[in-house]
Amino acid sequence: MTKTEEYPYKYPHNNRTWQILDAAEKGGYAVAAFNCYNTDGILASIRAAETLNAPAIVEIFPWSMHFHGPEFIKFASEALHAAKVPMSLHLDHCTLEADVYKALELPFDSIMVDASSQDPEENVKFVGHIVELAKARGITIEAEMGRIQGGEDGVPVVDMEALYTEPELAADFIARTGVHFLAPSIGNVHGPYPPGGPTKFWQLDRLAKIKSLSPDSVRLVMHGVTPPVDDELVRKTVELGIRKFNLNKSQHDPYIDFLKANLGTMEMIGLQEGSFKAWMGEAERCIKLLGSDGKAL
Ligand SMILES: [Zn+2]
Repeated sequence: MTKTEEYPYKYPHNNRTWQILDAAEKGGYAVAAFNCYNTDGILASIRAAETLNAPAIVEIFPWSMHFHGPEFIKFASEALHAAKVPMSLHLDHCTLEADVYKALELPFDSIMVDASSQDPEENVKFVGHIVELAKARGITIEAEMGRIQGGEDGVPVVDMEALYTEPELAADFIARTGVHFLAPSIGNVHGPYPPGGPTKFWQLDRLAKIKSLSPDSVRLVMHGVTPPVDDELVRKTVELGIRKFNLNKSQHDPYIDFLKANLGTMEMIGLQEGSFKAWMGEAERCIKLLGSDGKAL
């Protein structure tokens, strides 16, 4: 199969997530996408990105749409759009159809539609339908192919083979759905890794093949970046075309560690400032590792 040159839809040039990842493609670096659960995370992401003059993305889960409600989404969007560097608000792993429709009415810049647990044909149909709806609202769409599944409660994944994205199928999926960003499964899993970790399971040759067969306009995303991930491995995936790294535990572990170590001995302001700083410290390390520091337009 040859590379799909024809992209079915016009590029969404005015979309923030698109602009950020398009610049990353041109510049050969990746952008940190920080999963956030509260205002600390959102504000620490902004502070870290501004400190390093880096573009960055904040991701929240559908849980926040329900738990915090639409006002929180509006706050996040306004705060990110007011940052001194390019930043966007992304909805991560939207699995329920009703949540996708809800999200399309909120100020998200991009949405990850996760229908990867459905039958592959259903995944194509659903994602394609949402790409169409999102286009009218200026929102871009990320989808996942293959199943980036984690072992439950630390039980190693038994059948890794079944989870890998087939490069030819990925190219076909992109062409048929018009999706803007694709999260391939190259051995990356959510949650804890079986012994050997990412170094053993991430298949770089598979990533290279997926990149070479995908249209130039599509940006590749890495999920399942559960620490510890070897820095050199991260750099290699960036060299091979990963433009967005979803980061969650990386920055939350130091945040929570600080709270754990100081709860009961510190007042609220000290706890807030210290945990915020711990979060920012790791966020800044990740931004530098991905090569996006100093890359704000
Ligand atoms: Zn993910």
